[in-house]
Amino acid sequence: MPAPARTPDVLVIGAGVAGLACARDLLAAGLEVDVVEASDAVGGRMRSDRVEGFVVDRGFQVFNTSYPQVRQRLALRDLGLRPFTPGFLVHTAEGRLRFSDPTRRPRTLPDLLPGRLAGPRDLAALGLLSARDMLAPVRLVKRARESTTRTALAGAGFSEGFVERFFRPFLSGVFLEDELETSSRFFHLVWRSMLRGTLCLPTAGIGAVPRALGAALPTGTVRLETAVTGLTDEGAVTADGTELPARTVVVATGPGPAAHLLPGLELPDYRTVTTYYHVAPRPPLAEPTLLVDERRRFLNTCVLSEVVPDYAPAGSALVATSVLGRDAEKRETAVREALAEVYDGDTDGWDLLSSRTIQDALPAMPPPQPLSRGTRVGRGRYVCGDHRSTGSVQGALASGARAAREALRDLHRA
Ligand SMILES: Cc1cc2nc3c(=O)[nH]c(=O)nc-3n(C[C@H](O)[C@H](O)[C@H](O)COP(=O)(O)OP(=O)(O)OC[C@H]3O[C@@H](n4cnc5c(N)ncnc54)[C@H](O)[C@@H]3O)c2cc1C
Repeated sequence: MPAPARTPDVLVIGAGVAGLACARDLLAAGLEVDVVEASDAVGGRMRSDRVEGFVVDRGFQVFNTSYPQVRQRLALRDLGLRPFTPGFLVHTAEGRLRFSDPTRRPRTLPDLLPGRLAGPRDLAALGLLSARDMLAPVRLVKRARESTTRTALAGAGFSEGFVERFFRPFLSGVFLEDELETSSRFFHLVWRSMLRGTLCLPTAGIGAVPRALGAALPTGTVRLETAVTGLTDEGAVTADGTELPARTVVVATGPGPAAHLLPGLELPDYRTVTTYYHVAPRPPLAEPTLLVDERRRFLNTCVLSEVVPDYAPAGSALVATSVLGRDAEKRETAVREALAEVYDGDTDGWDLLSSRTIQDALPAMPPPQPLSRGTRVGRGRYVCGDHRSTGSVQGALASGARAAREALRDLHRA
């Protein structure tokens, strides 16, 4: 096989958001950069498909406008973002409770009156925790004493009942684990970002985010359908034996392929999630909001077409419901039964449009959680992705930026 005519300074393997951010920063520093991507489009775990006229994200996820990397790299206005209502609903045996942010929706203040969602002690703890997380300098939040989220919530004065009813159902959908064993540092950062930002979705689906990052690179930078099978002393090689020479290589492939390309690389465990996409004849809830279940029969559910009408053709509604782990026999039936209860309506007539299981959805983040790990793995070899940072778009972008910084520093020293 003929080798490509030109040797770039850096080869980035993988065009998820981490690889795209890394490439962008290296190009901005004046380097020649090639990105190779195994699949047929950029985006990795942030892609959307069109299925029978519906927009189906590859696993339900939300986009937070407060992430610093997001604000720095994306023209948010161009994404056509549609917001979720601030806060969420909890389905309980006594009916639906609303957790809302009264600073944004003053008319929801009565929902937070003592006795509705919680008693005075829990409300006071909630006010204190939220004020601290929202207003403290981020470096203090990142350096705060660390424990599991469960321990941190108990230490912040919340009753066990409130943690079980409110935090545990909601955070299980954020952490993709439902024991609250995730690092309190990550919890405080997530809480801060939710208070400071808006949860939303782009009109064209979550895949619009990496597409915008990819579109900002010079034409021809990203080569699609080019899977790297191994690293060599000179660069990398693809399955058909094509050599991809480069002085510097950044592996931005996600955890599984990174373990293969960089044997011995330390990787966290990953969480698996399945999202069921149902089509309903009409919206079972006329509100763009997240709904969680006190009994935790699912992680969260929402009527996507209430958030972004373009997600569904006129005359139908698209409902996304996520569960921990894989799909299994009768699981979707059990979810549909739970949905009939929480939406208080008949779900027998709903059609299952699609289900998506993402095996390596988010890294496990138990304490101690460094929040950011070095990316240099050898001479001229770097690795980035959410496994070097936190399981979020912010974490993946930040690790791409760090890989670029570390590679540039080494190149300048050489
Ligand atoms: C279901 C789900 C829900 C989520 N929810 C949220 C959320 O609400 N908020 C949030 O902030 N984050 C969320 N995330 C996390 C976020 O999407 C990820 O952290 C981020 O997309 C990871 O990006 P990455 O670039 O590190 O990896 P990836 O997106 O995995 O990108 C790796 C890329 O490398 C390519 N590749 C792999 N092997 C090779 C090879 N051999 N050669 C060439 N290319 C290769 C892949 O095709 C892929 O394009 C969620 C993720 C999932 C899956």
